Amino acid sequence: MRNKFQSQASRYFSSLLESEQRSSFGIAFDIDGVILRGRDPIGGSPQAVRRLYEDSGNLNVPFLFLTNGGGVPESKRANELSEQLGVKILPSQVLQGHSPFKSLLKRYENQLIIAAGKGEPAVVMSEYGFKKVVSIDEYASLFENIDPLSEYKKWTTNQVSDRSVHPMNTAVFPSNRLGMGAFRIALESVFNRVHHNPLEHVSFGKPNPVVFKNAEAMLRQLQVSYRSNNSKESGDSGLQSFKTLYMIGDNPSVDIKGARQAGHPWFSILTRTGVFRGKHNHAEFPADMASRMMELLAWCKLILINMDETTHFPSYL
Ligand SMILES: [Mg+2]
Repeated sequence: MRNKFQSQASRYFSSLLESEQRSSFGIAFDIDGVILRGRDPIGGSPQAVRRLYEDSGNLNVPFLFLTNGGGVPESKRANELSEQLGVKILPSQVLQGHSPFKSLLKRYENQLIIAAGKGEPAVVMSEYGFKKVVSIDEYASLFENIDPLSEYKKWTTNQVSDRSVHPMNTAVFPSNRLGMGAFRIALESVFNRVHHNPLEHVSFGKPNPVVFKNAEAMLRQLQVSYRSNNSKESGDSGLQSFKTLYMIGDNPSVDIKGARQAGHPWFSILTRTGVFRGKHNHAEFPADMASRMMELLAWCKLILINMDETTHFPSYL
């Protein structure tokens, strides 16, 4: 009798342990240069992402997309990714450069927000719940003579809105591109030239460790929903800490530097499908793992094997 109980208990705890081991991993994918190039999937990304789901359609491994891009609400980006990858991506699985602004809602909900940047930043901020949002164009239109150059650039007011035909917005551009970080540097430079006090600012986005903390928190929420789908009988609170979180990115100074700075449980994987095309690992910001030949699908297979066998990656592949 005692033996029967022991073997039942052993089976129960080993299946619980297995469930815990699998769900104590998570993945954060960069998008541009890893999942997509321009608007096209690369590296077997649709098949790779599909492997992270069970046949039933439930999430097998908590994962999300961690990008410095943005300009559209997370719900819209999730729908675009769902179409491009052929699986249902939730808005909560999309963390964009401006996603941390959601946490500022309490403080700035009823204050004037001037939204500047690519895409539709005012729509994004309004969707987050901010009540008094105006776009930079709306703001400028309130002051007739605010722009001394306006008469020379009226022709630019009807810009092409299709991102796919703008060469600077595609990852197929042959050299490194300047993103929102360049806008901040330009603004800071001008501001500091014309004011005595330097510009005060707070920046979000990779490689800021806060972004990785935020991603970890979101992966934990996905982990909890995963486990409530898979081990209802365990009555677990889902507060188990992650064993490993994989950051898969193509930019050493953003994705890899950020994951390394964030420390445990982050483990960085550098792909050669985007910004980085070096022969070996990056010299200044080396990833925990880098490989010349492997595609994203192969990485996901390796991660799943690693979860099953609870072994460690070899130091180099
Ligand atoms: Mg990238």
